[in-house]
Amino acid sequence: MTLQVKIDAETCTGCEACVSVCPFNALEVREGQAAVNDQCTLCGACAEECPVGAIFVPALEKGEIPENFSGVMVFAEQRLGKIAEVTYELLHKGRELADTLKVSLAAALLGKGVTSFAGGLIEYGADRVYVVDHPSLEGFTDDLYGECLTRIIRTYRPEIVLAGATSIGRSFIPKVATQIGTGLTADCTDLAIDAETRLLLQTRPAFGGNIMATIICPQKRPQMATVRHKVMKKGASQPGRSGEITPVEINWAELTPKTRLLEIVEEITEKVRLSEADVIVAGGRGLQEEKNFALIRELAGLLDAAVGASRGAVDAGWISYAHQVGQTGKTVAPKLYIAIGVSGAVQHLVGMQSADTIVAINTDPHAPIFDVASYGIVGDLFEIVPEMIRQLKARMQ
Ligand SMILES: Cc1cc2nc3c(=O)[nH]c(=O)nc-3n(C[C@H](O)[C@H](O)[C@H](O)COP(=O)(O)OP(=O)(O)OC[C@H]3O[C@@H](n4cnc5c(N)ncnc54)[C@H](O)[C@@H]3O)c2cc1C
Repeated sequence: MTLQVKIDAETCTGCEACVSVCPFNALEVREGQAAVNDQCTLCGACAEECPVGAIFVPALEKGEIPENFSGVMVFAEQRLGKIAEVTYELLHKGRELADTLKVSLAAALLGKGVTSFAGGLIEYGADRVYVVDHPSLEGFTDDLYGECLTRIIRTYRPEIVLAGATSIGRSFIPKVATQIGTGLTADCTDLAIDAETRLLLQTRPAFGGNIMATIICPQKRPQMATVRHKVMKKGASQPGRSGEITPVEINWAELTPKTRLLEIVEEITEKVRLSEADVIVAGGRGLQEEKNFALIRELAGLLDAAVGASRGAVDAGWISYAHQVGQTGKTVAPKLYIAIGVSGAVQHLVGMQSADTIVAINTDPHAPIFDVASYGIVGDLFEIVPEMIRQLKARMQ
């Protein structure tokens, strides 16, 4: 049975206050009485508005979920005419979740001149793509993007919505969750389906990264989560894969944006190509002082690698924050990650553990970095790294 709000016929005055406030057009007044239809999502907006307290949101039993939501949806982020890489990573994970639930995978694509990207999203796993292609969406503004995505979710009712924890995702996905009246788990590091309840298991570091918490959203739909770039793997494209492309009409006259994009100014900071690097050599507090980072830079130079660092090294002032890997730094997934004098605190590991191969050099055989390392060298970095440099140079001659 579809769960709906309950209306007390004796108390209801038929005032229609609930009708205009319902975001899902689930209420109407018939013969002087409010009536609810199967569009109800139990969001509770009507109950809050009812001046006589005639509407009740029934409590859900354990494991009971609103039934009129189905499918997984990925917000297909694009910026300046390019689909963000995190979108492909989310499509890969979204496909896995949708297959487990035996439902379809959709993508929501917003922007100006973006319809041509829809086919690519289908090749990366989407079954259908909802597109709002309009000049008003040329540059990102959180109010217009928020309104459009909210409308798509309200109309097509996915049970799960995934988005990138990028600067765009972070700035408007919480607003969408609030408008829909559901929960949001930010910065997830893992997503899975509970086989028994079909709930989305959303894992993320909690309490300063000291524990990994698995969060569920049992009573509201959709279940919403954001994931950082590089935390999930990108899948392979399947050229020629078919799917549906659905243009979504928006009544622009109804929307009054509060912000206007005047200009895009490129950030002028130290450019560190950590997120895109295939090889990263990272140094930690084991380096003992700033000048010893020269060893990390020299090894990185020989391997054509980017230089990473633990927060320990950044906090010590030995290297800038732009190099920090981890929960409060960058998330990376290179082919090779060499951790030198890094203990492997959980906050560091969440930022690099999806590297294909991890090499750790540490004097402490019990250092947690060895738990994730493919190859571990227990020893003094001041002996091992100069030897690696010497041998690499010898091979290059
Ligand atoms: C909310 C929060 C967010 C955080 N975010 C991040 C984050 O984004 N990234 C991050 O990295 N940390 C983060 N941290 C900090 C994290 O908990 C650790 O304190 C930090 O990662 C430790 O850095 P480190 O491994 O360089 O230093 P240490 O833990 O001091 O480890 C140094 C290691 O070097 C080894 N060593 C010493 N001498 C040598 C030698 N001669 N040769 C070889 N090995 C040697 C030691 O055995 C040791 O294992 C965060 C913490 C909190 C609370």
